[in-house]
Amino acid sequence: MKIKYSIVIHGGAGAIPKNVPEKDKKIYLDALEHILKFGNDLLSSGRTALDTAELVVRRFEDSPLFNAGKGAVFNSEGRNELDASVMDGRDRSCGAVTCVTRIKNPVTLARIVMEKSSHILLNGQGAETFAKENGMKFVRSSYFFTQKRYDQWLKLKEKNQTALDHSSGLTNSAKGTVGCVVKDSYGDLAAATSTGGMTNKKYGRIGDTPIIGAGNFADNSTCAVSCTGTGEEFMRTVAAYEIHALIKYKKLNLQQALDHFTSTVLKADTGGLIAVDRKGNHAYSFNSKGMYRGAADSNGFFEVKIWE
Ligand code: ASP
Repeated sequence: MKIKYSIVIHGGAGAIPKNVPEKDKKIYLDALEHILKFGNDLLSSGRTALDTAELVVRRFEDSPLFNAGKGAVFNSEGRNELDASVMDGRDRSCGAVTCVTRIKNPVTLARIVMEKSSHILLNGQGAETFAKENGMKFVRSSYFFTQKRYDQWLKLKEKNQTALDHSSGLTNSAKGTVGCVVKDSYGDLAAATSTGGMTNKKYGRIGDTPIIGAGNFADNSTCAVSCTGTGEEFMRTVAAYEIHALIKYKKLNLQQALDHFTSTVLKADTGGLIAVDRKGNHAYSFNSKGMYRGAADSNGFFEVKIWE
């Protein structure tokens, strides 16, 4: 049956050990299920792809379980610097922010940059001034503090290392970057992605998440994509745009494009992607041990998963 609408979400990819305690596994699967249901309900009530992608990512940002908004990782100075982006598949309009420190929902600021400025990417202080001018909600930087993320940072700082927050050796109880891609019942696609980046990243470091075409991309003619993993690799490979190009020019289908990318283009053990195409097909692919993810559509398909 033709798919009217569909949604795919991720909560980060990485070296997620299969022996995580059952209760931790359940906490994450329940959170994914809850957020996926929220997005699916929005779509069934006629919300647009762009609204749904933004609102779903806000839910992730408000949860301390994921590395975005509340629960973001710490950089090398012991601060939280957040990145986010959105893209509208109808006309490729897009917006992004990097290194914001006091914005509760960076994904919404990214959307405001898209809709209310003539720019695409605003950074740090400038992004926050723009947020103030547009009446956005600010929080104290201490809002982003979570003990688990802080402890993760202390461990890595001691070793002078940078890591995906879900890499092995770190606590299993707090997981990655978040993203949502959607096809709505009007046939439009959208993508939104938000992150705290990598634990112990250098101050001012910007990953793939706010870089259109690297960590996030949407074009109604092909697909919407959101990435998670070591940002530098997704930037080097222009990952999200590469999926679009594989479909557009190489005529691969969505799953083939993602699998080709993670197995032959992306460096091993780097992360993964989620995507949806213009027909509403969904796909995930990752070359890390696991990826927190889920997908649902108008035909009643609904699943959340961590490993293969
Ligand atoms: N891609 C994000 C970054 O490099 C990190 C992640 O996906 O966990 O900033």
